Amino acid sequence: MKYIADSSLFIIGKRLEGRIITVPSVVDELKDENARTIMELLDARVEPPVSGFLNKVRQKADATKDSEELSAADIELLAKALEYSEREETTLVTDDFAIQNTALHLGIKVMPAGQRIIKDILIWEKQCIGCKRRFPGGDDCPVCGSPMKKIRKKWRQ
Ligand SMILES: [Zn+2]
Repeated sequence: MKYIADSSLFIIGKRLEGRIITVPSVVDELKDENARTIMELLDARVEPPVSGFLNKVRQKADATKDSEELSAADIELLAKALEYSEREETTLVTDDFAIQNTALHLGIKVMPAGQRIIKDILIWEKQCIGCKRRFPGGDDCPVCGSPMKKIRKKWRQ
């Protein structure tokens, strides 16, 4: 069994029977020393994504409107999971709702890394495209009047 893992697996440190694979951008996101150590203990293999699969993921995410919630690292992770799931049994391990949602649309099997409930993890906020201030909601910035876009709030600082 192969597991394609995002940072949550390494933050939580869950043990899995099988080969664990991740992508370089997920490793770059791991600021926490413990998480990097767990990644080494789990003997995770780091593989760059393949461009053809990146394109497939982007197309699907655009179609399902998940694209604005997905970071470059998320897209890479999904591309790696899609690549493996087309040839063998693969599970994508992530607690991120936008990744889970896109994965299901792509026919990729998913499992959460932790016991958390999705709604407790995923926090959205709006960011003004003009002054870059952040607000809990709304369409236009109350300070400068520019439109605001939906962004994912980091749930682990
Ligand atoms: Zn503004």
